[in-house]
Amino acid sequence: MTDIYDVVIIGGGITGTSLLYAISEYSDIKSVLLLEKYDGLARLNSNSRNNAQTLHFGDVETNYTPQTAKRTKEAAELVLRYTDSLPDAERRRIIQRCQKMVLASGDFELGILEKTYKSIRPLFPGLKRVGRKQLAALEPNVVKGRDKDDEIAALLSDNGHMVDFGRLTKSFANKAMRHMRKRIHIKFNTAVLRAEHDGDNFRVVTAGKEYRARFVVFSAGAYSLYFAKKMGYDKNLSALAVAGNFYYSKRVLNGKVYRVQLGGIPFAAIHGDPEITNPGLTRFGPTVTLPPELERGHFETFGDYLRTFDFDLPTAISLKRILFNKDISRILRANIAYLVPISGKMEFVKHEAARIVPSLKNRDLWLAKGIGGIRPQIIDENKKALILGEAKLKEDGIIFNVTPSPGASSCLQGAVADLRVITEYLDKEFDEGRFERELGEVKHHLRHF
Ligand SMILES: Cc1cc2nc3c(=O)[nH]c(=O)nc-3n(C[C@H](O)[C@H](O)[C@H](O)COP(=O)(O)OP(=O)(O)OC[C@H]3O[C@@H](n4cnc5c(N)ncnc54)[C@H](O)[C@@H]3O)c2cc1C
Repeated sequence: MTDIYDVVIIGGGITGTSLLYAISEYSDIKSVLLLEKYDGLARLNSNSRNNAQTLHFGDVETNYTPQTAKRTKEAAELVLRYTDSLPDAERRRIIQRCQKMVLASGDFELGILEKTYKSIRPLFPGLKRVGRKQLAALEPNVVKGRDKDDEIAALLSDNGHMVDFGRLTKSFANKAMRHMRKRIHIKFNTAVLRAEHDGDNFRVVTAGKEYRARFVVFSAGAYSLYFAKKMGYDKNLSALAVAGNFYYSKRVLNGKVYRVQLGGIPFAAIHGDPEITNPGLTRFGPTVTLPPELERGHFETFGDYLRTFDFDLPTAISLKRILFNKDISRILRANIAYLVPISGKMEFVKHEAARIVPSLKNRDLWLAKGIGGIRPQIIDENKKALILGEAKLKEDGIIFNVTPSPGASSCLQGAVADLRVITEYLDKEFDEGRFERELGEVKHHLRHF
């Protein structure tokens, strides 16, 4: 006899638990099961070790369109309102305010900075343009040792926050589990092997047991697309697994320093960040590598990677277009050089870290071992282009969430999008009025494919 749940969520990262929280807190859905293959929550990308800990607001991301910036701001404000409602001590462990800016150097970058500033200033009235003199006061090490002829400026955000997304993941789960009158279950060490239709419901098959569900949500990171493909919901999407290394130095920055990023490139340029778990350190990264795996350092996921990548003619054509884009190929070439033992780190310091903190020397940085996850960067084979940000795939009774950056920042916005679909499908109620009053309105979520 198998158990039947209203909703089964696969994946105990921030996407899965924010949905678990939203369902249990704001809907009349009575039974939800979350299945996680590892022995705890936030073991992969949502763990603070594996991401850049930034609450993305859309104000320093020069590669975003104004529309993306608006959506990102809305998403971040939901997270802020949620964390504001937590007891002080818990909130401080999860989120802390910090200085945040995007730095431009040289005419080309200064031009992008100016254009971004003009286009998003109405959305972010607190955003300030600062020159070398103010920068020297705010981030002395960004100016110290820099060539006098190197013209620099920055946009200083008033929305800087660093977040331990792993702790936020656990907070969502704890809140969900408090609903004693509902049947909210989390099972660890339970890898889902497949999901299949079973009449009007689904069978979710694990190694030990099968579960039945009226609605299924895959929030399994890169594996969401793997399962979508396995179930025949291709949607002409593929994914590149983009991994990245970080380097540590002793603390040399007061806050987050992003660098100007070109439009259309989905991954941010290397930035310097404080480390929420250790205030004595600054982190530089992430670099860009394309390992053939779905989980960082787990080469046994190679077969599943091939299945998700699903190499065929449309993938090859898309890949050619993407990799031959001159900016992407330049970034990839540089990042290949950073992988070379010994000289790679020197190149990284010279071409990346020292562009933020010019006085940094090779001996000042060390590789942050075992740090950095995988961003499943989605390829839209119809458009033959990389999609900026996350993707949601929807079929009758099932959703697949694929979540590169800024997936952690947009967790609650994504949860609302999913909850709207789920409650409509199950003929249940989503108390959106209360959600709006308590956390904010959701107008700009991602559409489901
Ligand atoms: C280097 C890097 C920097 C980033 N920086 C930022 C940032 O600064 N700000 C930001 O907002 N976002 C950032 N991101 C993105 C962010 O980390 C992710 O979008 C987010 O963590 C995704 O959460 P998730 O729950 O969807 O996936 P994950 O956290 O990866 O969770 C997926 C879960 O599904 C489980 N799972 C997979 N397959 C199965 C299965 N078959 N059965 C059961 N369970 C399964 C996994 O074990 C895992 O626990 C960054 C990502 C990377 C890699």
